[in-house]
Amino acid sequence: MASVSLKQVHKTFPNGFEAVKNIDLDVEDGEFVVFVGPSGCGKSTIIRMVAGQEMVTSGEIKINGKQLKEINPKELSMAMVLQNYALYPKLTVEENLAFGLEKRGYPKEEIEARSREVAADLHLADIYNKKPKSLSASQRQRVALGRALILKPDLLILDEPLAGLEKEIRESVVQSMAKKHAEIKNTILYVTHSVKEAKILASQIVVMKRGEVIQKGTYKELYYKPENAFVAEFINEPDINLIDGQYEVLEGRAYITTELGEFYIKLEQKEMEEIHKRKREVIVGIRPEDITLGKGREKDSVRFSKRIEGVLKEEESTLLTMRVANRSFNTLMRGEYKGKADAVEEFCVETDRIYVFDRKTKELIL
Ligand code: ATP
Repeated sequence: MASVSLKQVHKTFPNGFEAVKNIDLDVEDGEFVVFVGPSGCGKSTIIRMVAGQEMVTSGEIKINGKQLKEINPKELSMAMVLQNYALYPKLTVEENLAFGLEKRGYPKEEIEARSREVAADLHLADIYNKKPKSLSASQRQRVALGRALILKPDLLILDEPLAGLEKEIRESVVQSMAKKHAEIKNTILYVTHSVKEAKILASQIVVMKRGEVIQKGTYKELYYKPENAFVAEFINEPDINLIDGQYEVLEGRAYITTELGEFYIKLEQKEMEEIHKRKREVIVGIRPEDITLGKGREKDSVRFSKRIEGVLKEEESTLLTMRVANRSFNTLMRGEYKGKADAVEEFCVETDRIYVFDRKTKELIL
């Protein structure tokens, strides 16, 4: 398979725009790495550089320990689907899928079997004999993806391969890709806007912002230990509630005042040493799913009552919207909300579920 290493990789485009800034990243053999971040943060540029479609301005990229520019394409089993893919217009879906394996001299039976498998996974069986011009954009995109997946390459590079696909198909393709990766264990670099996809697929998620890596780790690491408010906001669905507050350290406790009330978090010795300023302006982060409806426990928790302003029923849960500090504030409860739409309800959140970020730097304090 393939390991990929980026050392101080920098990309400045000819117009002077710095799209990628001194990135270090190690991708181990068999990892499924998913790049996420706002539009224009440099995700595509990174994977295009690894794919050899874009030159680095400085720094180095190695695959299996070898400099990218020294690799003979024949010695690396790699496939990619970038945003500007093209299909062979004169070939049918089946022939498009089979093309790469035929070129590599695979036996006919294996090509047929793999084509059928990929077509089933990507919902292409019904259009097997059609040519690209009669296909929808979603179907064409899936054929492009299928042409790469069928090769089972050691290194697979995919730039938003599922963007624009219908929801049901997209969900089913994500599931089958996860299953296939667990079987094949090849190395995959994957760009998406969807945190949901990243959550299911990634062994490592790389969160980017303005050309920089803000944090990387498994979904759980990013979810439970976001290093800053940006990651907490980006990773959480529904959006994490962020409200302004003040923070003061007194006798081993951090007292935090917000519009929800005052509460404290006990500090560990290590945290006490790290926290220099006794007072500062903070942002308090509370996930909708960490808030419970009702009084909850008294100890180590924040209780507040608010008027419900919106009730949005989802599949297995209900999103209740309120207003805190003049901003929308959400809680996500399991099951159905049985109360009145504009009732005043009591809520509770345990303090060990609360995140505290510095308001200026946005870095996590507690
Ligand atoms: P998206 O999610 O919208 O695809 P991205 O995170 O993949 O965005 P990139 O496509 O890597 O972002 O682009 C990063 C930045 O570099 C963008 O601001 C883009 O406009 C800019 N950029 C990309 N290619 C060039 C180029 N050839 N010349 C100048 N700027 C470029």
